[in-house]
Amino acid sequence: MSLQPLTLDRLCIHQVTLMQCDFRESMECLARHGVTKTAVWRDKLDEIGTAEGARILDDLGIEAMSLCAGGLLTASDPAARRQAYDDNRQWIDQAAAIKATSMVTITGGLEAGQTDLRGARDRASEGIAELIPHARAAGVRLALEPLHPMVCGFRSVISTVRETLDILDALNAQDVMGLAVDSYALWWDHNLQADLADAAAQTINFHVSDWLKETRDVRLDRGMPGDGQIDNRKIRGWLEGIGFDAAVEVEIFSEMNWWKRQPDEVVRTIVDRAQKVL
Ligand code: ZN
Repeated sequence: MSLQPLTLDRLCIHQVTLMQCDFRESMECLARHGVTKTAVWRDKLDEIGTAEGARILDDLGIEAMSLCAGGLLTASDPAARRQAYDDNRQWIDQAAAIKATSMVTITGGLEAGQTDLRGARDRASEGIAELIPHARAAGVRLALEPLHPMVCGFRSVISTVRETLDILDALNAQDVMGLAVDSYALWWDHNLQADLADAAAQTINFHVSDWLKETRDVRLDRGMPGDGQIDNRKIRGWLEGIGFDAAVEVEIFSEMNWWKRQPDEVVRTIVDRAQKVL
C-alpha cells in the first residue's frame, strides 16, 4: 500500500513541543502556520485556567485531540492513591471542558525504594479501572500509553504494545479505553508491527518524534522527525494498514534544543518534515 502524503489537516503538534511558550503563545503559533490540532499540556492549561484555555482554542479554531497526561496511579499508600484518583477525575473533567477526545494516560513508575514491578503494574490497572465510569460519563477516552523501557522506573511500568493490549483486554471497556502509540517509546520493538495488527480498533492516538543516536536524556532529548533513527512513515503505514486514519501527532520533549528555539522555527520545521518523513 502506498501512503498518501500527510496533509496539514492531519498534522497535530503537541503543546509540550512549544514548552518555551505560554498557552496562548503556543496556540497562536500553531494557528499562524495553519496547524489546527494539538494535544494540550496539563501544566500549561493550569497556568491560565481551563475556561480561558477552552476559549483560546475556540477562538483560534484549534482542536484539542487530547489532554496530556493523566494516570500516574502506581502509589501504594491509600491516601496517595485517593489523591491520584481525585486528580484524575479533575483532569478528565478538564479534558471534557476543552473538548478533547482523549486523555493520554500513563501508569507512573515505581515509588522510591520499591522494586515490586508487578505490584505497581497491578495497582495502575486497578486505578484505571476505577476511573472508567467517570471517563465514560464525561465522554473522554483514556488512551493508555506504554513508554520506553528506559523510563520504566519513573514514568511507566508498561513498555510494549502487547502489555498494553493485555491490560486493555482485562479492563474490557473498549468504548472508553484504547491505546496511544508513541513511536519514540516503541520503535525498538521487533514485534511492533505484529502487535499493532492486533490493536487495530483500539488505537486512539499516534505520537511521533525521533530517537537521536547520541541521546543525552531518554525523556527530555527527543529529536525532530527526520533527525534520528525512527522510520515514522513506516509505522504510520502499519497503522493505516489496520484502518487508523486519525492525525499524526508530533510530540517533542527537547530541553536542550527545540525548547530553546524560536517557536515559529520549530513549527515551520515540523510542517516541512511532515512532508518529508511523516
Ligand atoms: Zn506520547
